[in-house]
Amino acid sequence: MSHTLKHTPANCWQVYSSQEQRKAISDFAVRYIDFITQCKTERETVRWIRDRAREAGFSDDPQSPAFYRVLKDKSIILVRRGRRPLKEGLRVLGAHVDTPRLDLKQNPLYETCDLALAKTHYYGGLRKHQWFSRSLALHGVVVTQDGDKVNLRIGEEAEDPVFLIPDLLPHLASQQNEKKLSEAFEGEKMNVILGNDKAETSSAGGEIGEEASEEAERESIKKGVLQLLYARYGLTEEDLFSAELQLTPADPARSVGLDQSLVGGFGQDDRVCVFCGLQALLQESDPEYTQMALFWDKEEIGSEGATSARSMFFEYTLQELLETLEPGSRLSRVLANSRALSADVHGGLDPDHQDLHDPMNSSKLGYGPVFCKFTGHRGKLGANDATAEYVAWLRSLLNSKGIPWQMAEIGKVDAGGGGTVAKHLAVYGMDIIDCGPSVLGMHSPFELTSKADIYATYQAFRAFLE
Ligand code: MN
Ligand code: MN
Repeated sequence: MSHTLKHTPANCWQVYSSQEQRKAISDFAVRYIDFITQCKTERETVRWIRDRAREAGFSDDPQSPAFYRVLKDKSIILVRRGRRPLKEGLRVLGAHVDTPRLDLKQNPLYETCDLALAKTHYYGGLRKHQWFSRSLALHGVVVTQDGDKVNLRIGEEAEDPVFLIPDLLPHLASQQNEKKLSEAFEGEKMNVILGNDKAETSSAGGEIGEEASEEAERESIKKGVLQLLYARYGLTEEDLFSAELQLTPADPARSVGLDQSLVGGFGQDDRVCVFCGLQALLQESDPEYTQMALFWDKEEIGSEGATSARSMFFEYTLQELLETLEPGSRLSRVLANSRALSADVHGGLDPDHQDLHDPMNSSKLGYGPVFCKFTGHRGKLGANDATAEYVAWLRSLLNSKGIPWQMAEIGKVDAGGGGTVAKHLAVYGMDIIDCGPSVLGMHSPFELTSKADIYATYQAFRAFLE
C-alpha cells in the first residue's frame, strides 16, 4: 500500500466490508450512542469513565499496575503500566470531556411577563441561533453551605419536563432578519423558561410580611419555582451561587441515515475520542509502554483553569508515579521520550459549504481518523506542528495494521482555525499530533459522525497505545 506511486485514501466502509466487521462497527456504535446519551457534562463523563475503570480493575493507588486519579470530579487520568520502564517514555492519549453548552448564571432566576426564567451564559464556541426553540435538559451540581452535593439531571427521562428558549416568531422577525448573524442573537436574550404556574405559589413565601405582599405577587411564579427546588432538592436561591448548572439538548443520540451509517448526538466533540480512547485503553492488559489517558475539562474555553490541560495535574500525577515506581528516573526524560495523540475531532468537508475547505486537504466522513499535522490560524499562529518523523511513524503504524486514516486541515488558509490540547503537551518536548474522527455540525446540539470512522478511530487508538 505504501509503495503505490499515487495515494488513494481508503474508505472505511470498503475496508471493513465483511459481515463480522460490519457487526463490530454497529455493536461499537450502539455502546457509543448509549454513552453519549448518558454523559452530557464533564462531571457525568468523568464519573462514567471512573466507574468503567474500576470495573476493569483500576485503582487509585499509584502502586497499582492500573491506576486512575480524578481531579475535582472534572478531569481524570488513567495509567496502565507497561513492560518497559517509565524512563523509556509513555504512550499518552489526551481528549477532552467538556462541550459547548449554556451555563446558568450564578444569579439566574427572575420573573417577567408571568413567566419564570433563568439567565444563561454560554460556554465555548457555540452558534447561538442553534439553541432556540428546542428542548433542553438541565444538568449539573449544586453544593449547599453544608457541603452537600445535589446532582440535577432534569429532562432526560420521558416523564421529565424539559426547558426552552423560545425563538422569535417570523411575523415579528423582520428587524432581526436584517442583522448580521453575529449580532442577531444576543447572549443576554438567551433566557430559558422554567415556569408559568401562579397557583403553585398560593402559599409562597409564608415568611413574607404584608408590606412585601406586592413583591410577593409580582414574583409569585419565580417563588413557585423556588418552592419546587426546595421541595424536591432542598435547595434555596442562595445555593445557586455555588452551582454548576448546564443546559444541554434533551434528546438522546441516535443513528442517522436510511442506512444507519452515521451517529447524531450532542457532545461528540470530544466524547467520541473519550469513548474510543477509553475502550482502547481497557482492551490492552499488558502493554509494552506505559499507557496514559488524559481526559481533560475546559478545552472549549482555551484549556484554562485547574481541571484543564494547562494545569499541572498531568505533570504532578506523573511525578508521583515516578517517585513511587522509578525514583531514579527524571521526569523531563520520561516526558521527552513520550509519544502522544491529541485525540480530538476534526471538522469534516461540509457538503453545503465545500467552498470553505481546500478539497485536497480536507477530511471526509467515512475515511477514518484524521491526522491534523498543525492547527492554529493565519500562518499557523498558535499551532502545534507535529514533526515529519512522527507523522511517518504513525503512517507506518496504521498502514501495517490496515487501519484507514486521512490527513487534513480544518479549512482553507485564512478561513478560520482552531486549537486543541496538543500544544499543552508539546511543551514537554514530546511528539504529539491531533487525531480523531471527522464531525459535521461541530459544536452544534446534534453533531454528526460516521460509525465506520468511530470504529476505525478506536482501532487506531489501540494500535497507538499497544
Ligand atoms: Mn474538541
Ligand atoms: Mn470543540
